[in-house]
Amino acid sequence: MSDKPIYVTQPFLPPLEDFMPMLRQIWDSKVLTNGGPFHQKLEAALCEHLGVPHISLFTNATIALVTALQALRITGEVITTPYTFVATAHSLVWNGIEPVFADIDPESLNLDPKKIEAAITPKTTAIMPVHCYGRPCDTEAIQRIADTYNLKVIYDAAHAFGVNCHCGSVLNHGDLSVLSFHATKVFNTFEGGAIISPDAKTKKRIDHLKNFGFVDETVVVAPGINGKMSEFNAALGLLQLEHVGEAFAGRGRVDAMYRERLAHVAGIDCVATDPKATSNHSYFPILVRPGFRTSRDGLYAELRAANVYARRYFYPLVSDFPMYRGLPSAAPANLPVARAAADQVLCLPIFPALTESQIDRIVDVIRG
Ligand SMILES: *Cc1c(COP(=O)(O)O)cnc(C)c1O
Repeated sequence: MSDKPIYVTQPFLPPLEDFMPMLRQIWDSKVLTNGGPFHQKLEAALCEHLGVPHISLFTNATIALVTALQALRITGEVITTPYTFVATAHSLVWNGIEPVFADIDPESLNLDPKKIEAAITPKTTAIMPVHCYGRPCDTEAIQRIADTYNLKVIYDAAHAFGVNCHCGSVLNHGDLSVLSFHATKVFNTFEGGAIISPDAKTKKRIDHLKNFGFVDETVVVAPGINGKMSEFNAALGLLQLEHVGEAFAGRGRVDAMYRERLAHVAGIDCVATDPKATSNHSYFPILVRPGFRTSRDGLYAELRAANVYARRYFYPLVSDFPMYRGLPSAAPANLPVARAAADQVLCLPIFPALTESQIDRIVDVIRG
């Protein structure tokens, strides 16, 4: 097989020569971390770019999720989705919180508000939804439930960089939103993450928590953690931000080509984007329905044999992993829609450098 491997994504990198002068500045200043100049600049630039009031940069999104829960003093039970990356539920366990899994909506693949309401108990303190594949959750319905039952809402917005809905950035919904800047995400700083806060007071508390709880040299106000983003990652982020528009456009081009080519393939459904929101095209999920000529895993294997590395995001369900499957809410009968999606989903390669001939190669395998 002479065809070069095609992976599900290819990290976006700016020209190396543009990064060198920034490294030189770091070397000259000898400020490597602890809220240095690049860290401050990237926070300001991201607020502006994303249209959010306050942002705190982190070393990664998982530590940011753990810290967001600490910042709002969440305890007891939190309702979340099983159809996500494991870090969503893990962040709850790291806070001694019990994840309560609720089923998803078959069209958006996001938490189904009706199922959230049914999962509320006297121990419920918060909801942690995920904007899966960057498609916004039903934020209005979720906020209505949160207001009715006096619950906090922390969005795992790891997929939702740059997504806007009818009222601006989707990141402004809920009490806090958490972004990931991991290498595989649409905007990357190699490793990185952030929390969006609605007000300066909350940002300040989060900034203390990510720096061991330090307020100044001698005052520690909380058992904080070390979640700070370094100057290296922050400088890279500033450079990446200059190219993020191109990256989105390139992904959009790939998205459109797939949709056109797969529209009439029997048994393949492309997951629809939300017509009321923008898309960052972070993933290209298809659902391999029972009417298709082979199973999802059959197609996955055919693509593998053709050197195409599609990924089954999100299979298995988080609720099927050993540390969660004993929970009452993890029972298969509680999560039929999530289970069907996990059994049918395949994320096809999408990144700006993917060529039309590579897309045709992938589509040819799917068509058989
Ligand atoms: C990537 C991802 C995370 C974790 O992000 P890191 O920055 O790698 O810690 C959390 N939640 C979801 C939904 C993700 O896709």
